[in-house]
Amino acid sequence: MLDSEKIIKDFPILDQVVNDEALVYLDNAATTQKPKQVLDALKHYYGNDNANVHRGVHTLAERATAKFEGAREKLRSFINARSAKEILWTKGTTQSLNWVAQFARQVLQPDDEILITVMEHHSNLVPWQQAAKATGASLKFVYLKDGKLDLNDLAAKLTSKTKFLSITHVSNVLGVINPVKEITKLAHQYGTLVVVDGAQSTPHMAIDVQNLDVDFFAFSGHKMMAPTGIGVLYGKQELLEKFEPIEFGGEMIDFVYEDHSTWTELPWKFEAGTPNISGAIGLGAAVDYLNSIGIDAIHQHEQELVDYIMPKMRAISGLTIYGPEDNSLRTGVIAFNIDNLHPHDLATALDMQGIAVRAGHHCAQPLLNYLGTSATARASFYLYTTKDDCDKLVEGILQAKEFFNV
Ligand code: PMP
Repeated sequence: MLDSEKIIKDFPILDQVVNDEALVYLDNAATTQKPKQVLDALKHYYGNDNANVHRGVHTLAERATAKFEGAREKLRSFINARSAKEILWTKGTTQSLNWVAQFARQVLQPDDEILITVMEHHSNLVPWQQAAKATGASLKFVYLKDGKLDLNDLAAKLTSKTKFLSITHVSNVLGVINPVKEITKLAHQYGTLVVVDGAQSTPHMAIDVQNLDVDFFAFSGHKMMAPTGIGVLYGKQELLEKFEPIEFGGEMIDFVYEDHSTWTELPWKFEAGTPNISGAIGLGAAVDYLNSIGIDAIHQHEQELVDYIMPKMRAISGLTIYGPEDNSLRTGVIAFNIDNLHPHDLATALDMQGIAVRAGHHCAQPLLNYLGTSATARASFYLYTTKDDCDKLVEGILQAKEFFNV
């Protein structure tokens, strides 16, 4: 186990009382808390180095640029991209996936197919619906078996017509880890480009984009202890060279003439306008923090918590857990429902006990529809979650059941 007592001290926000109870924060799939190290990096940047990047020769501009590009290098190393040219700053996963779906519009033809899965977050679904609508391509879905992706269904739907396969690495509802490497290998046999939504995997497990061999990979800083409004789109260099930029303006040009313009080199070709400089520096600091703890140790810690809590949750009468039975296929995301109790009521009852969980459709309406429900409660863990927090959640659910008499 991680040294939780030591880690928790790095997160001042966790040390507070909510509704007369010590806060138990179990909404990490929505967003994570920030350690002092990240808060200090932001404060230091604004207190000492703040300037616009790339276009200044003065000392502060040079310092800001060095930190901003230094953060890009940290992210490159974190996901083992070949080159920092392959690391594009975005607002987050949603923008990253929208960009890829825009790239797709540059090449899709009416006969082509896009393959996604029924477990996608809306941000890896709606942009593809729009791309299909704009190009006449068709959007196909892979369905589930036993709480996880049906790989036979995937294999049956993958054909030489499939130009893009876009899939989540870890579901934000089922918690299931999809076998992205195996899937990518199969898809590449058909010449299909593979796009991965890494929003729920990158904060919790080691990512090696070269080993996975995916073509695009998207994630958000705020789910890995960095500020909101910063994220990454990784793309293979040869593809990023090929596709046209999505946004236009300052910073991304080489020369501008009255009637046309040329683009600068990667990665800046895609980064129009003043970027989120402090966000990128904050994400770099979050990566330093993750490395100091060790991403494998974090993954193992969360697996241990899942192994610890699952038998206790499964023992609660009337409680349904969504996703696979096999805990080793899961991360620390647990969506559940109690018979005859609306998840919003459950989440409110838990909040009265200081326990923060999410309730709703989790931006995955087609998945919830497929599962035959309109909403669930969801508890999600991170490196600062403890077994004591798990016990409090179980106790809180039992108390809520008693209170509502269900
Ligand atoms: N995909 C998944 C699997 C997610 O969990 C989320 C965040 N809930 C997103 C995409 C979207 O991330 P963001 O809102 O940071 O763009």
